[in-house]
Amino acid sequence: MSSATEWPPRVWSTNCVIGDEPRLAYNRVLLSSVLAGETASHDIELKPAAWWRDRGVTLKYRCVATEIDVGRRELKIANEESIAFSKLVLATGSTPLRLSVPGADLAGVHTFRDSRDVDLLLTLAAQKKRVVVVGGGLLGLEAAYGLAKAGAPVTLIHLMDRLMERQLDAPAAELLKCLVERKGIKVLLNANTARLLGETRVEGIELADGRRIDADAVIFAAGIRPNVALAKNAGIPVNRGIVVDDVMQTGAPDIFALGECAEHRGICYGLVEPAYEQAHVLAQHLAGRAAVYGGSVVATNLKVSGVSVFSAGDFMGMDGGETIVLSDIRHGTYKKLVISDGRLTGAVLVGDVGDALWYLELIRSREPIARIRSHMIFGRQLAIRSEAA
Ligand SMILES: Cc1cc2nc3c(=O)[nH]c(=O)nc-3n(C[C@H](O)[C@H](O)[C@H](O)COP(=O)(O)OP(=O)(O)OC[C@H]3O[C@@H](n4cnc5c(N)ncnc54)[C@H](O)[C@@H]3O)c2cc1C
Repeated sequence: MSSATEWPPRVWSTNCVIGDEPRLAYNRVLLSSVLAGETASHDIELKPAAWWRDRGVTLKYRCVATEIDVGRRELKIANEESIAFSKLVLATGSTPLRLSVPGADLAGVHTFRDSRDVDLLLTLAAQKKRVVVVGGGLLGLEAAYGLAKAGAPVTLIHLMDRLMERQLDAPAAELLKCLVERKGIKVLLNANTARLLGETRVEGIELADGRRIDADAVIFAAGIRPNVALAKNAGIPVNRGIVVDDVMQTGAPDIFALGECAEHRGICYGLVEPAYEQAHVLAQHLAGRAAVYGGSVVATNLKVSGVSVFSAGDFMGMDGGETIVLSDIRHGTYKKLVISDGRLTGAVLVGDVGDALWYLELIRSREPIARIRSHMIFGRQLAIRSEAA
C-alpha cells in the first residue's frame, strides 16, 4: 500500500505492508520443510527486516485489516486506526476449510496453514500423538510426511480413489501411495469422514462406511477458501475469489488483488507460481509499464512426502491427446507425456523429475515436437542428441 500525499495528518511517505501474522513475511511453501525438520523456521523469511527498512517499506505485523473505505481510499486496521492509500493491493490468501461434519470444532482438531500451525504439529509429533490427516492432496501429504518424520503415528484419509487426483493420473497416484506408505504413513482411500468422535476433545474419526480410526488429533487438509471478506464488505465484486482483470485490478479503482484471494478469468489458483506471475504483472503495471496477465499454465513441481512429483497441463489427456508412458514402478519411477496436434500438452512425472522444467517449457511454448517425439520420454539430453543425429 502506498500512501496518498493528499492526506497530511497521517501521511505514510513509504509503502506499507500489513499482515496479521506475528512475524516477518516468509515463504509459506517451505513450512512443509520446517515441519519435516529439513529447514529451520527462521531460514524461511523472505527478507530480513533491514531489507524492507532500507527500501522505505513500513511493516505492520500482527495487524488485521478490517475494512476498506473505497470512496475515501482508507484502510481500517485494528484499534480503529486508518491508513490512507493511493493504491491498495489485496493479497489476503486463503483460509483452510474445516469439513462441516459433527465434531469438527472439538479440541484437538487443527489445520496446516501458517507457522503457528507448524509449531503446534511439531508439539503433537514430539508427544507421539496419534494423528489423522484428512485430505490426500499436496497439503495433506506434506502434513502427514512431516508429522510421521517427527515421530507421530499418522493415518492419512482421502475421499477419492487416488491421492492428488487433481495432479496425478491413477498409476502415478498408486506409485506415490506406495512410496508414502514406505515412510510409515497409513493411507486410506475412498474414506468419507462422517463425524469426529469425542466429547470435548477429539478421540477418533468415523467414516461413512462405519470404519473408525482412533486419534488424539485431527488435521484438516481438505481444501481452502479464498479470503474475500474485506473486498466483499467494501462492495468490490467477488465470486469465489476477488474478481480481477488482466492487470490484477478489482472492480474498484486503484484496488488490486493477487494470489490465492484473486479470481482471474474464472480461476482461483491455489499454488505459488501463478501468484508470482501475477505479482510481476502488477508491479509492471504500477510502475507504468505495459504488462498483461493471461493466466498461468498450472504446474506442480515439488517433493511430496519426500517423493519428487511433477504434473502440468492436460496430464489426463482430456482433450483426446495421445500418451507416451515409461513406467518402472519397482524403482519408483513413472513418466507420462500427453501429445496433441504434434505438441506436448501435458506431463506427469513421479520419482525422476530431472527434465520437468524442460517439459514445462515445451508445454508453455507449444513448440512442435515431431523431431524429438520418439526420444523425449527419455529426457532432454537424449531427445536433443536424436534431433541432431
Ligand atoms: C504448508 C503449505 C505448503 C505449500 N506448498 C506449496 C508448494 O509446494 N507449491 C505451491 O505452489 N504452493 C504451495 N502452497 C500454497 C502456497 O503457499 C500459496 O499458494 C501461497 O502462499 C499464496 O500466497 P498468497 O500471498 O496469495 O497468500 P498467503 O501466503 O496465504 O498470504 C496471505 C497473508 O495475508 C494475511 N491476511 C489475510 N487476511 C488478512 C487481513 N484481513 N489483515 C491482515 N492480514 C491478512 C494472512 O494471514 C497471510 O499471512 C503451500 C501452502 C501451505 C500452507
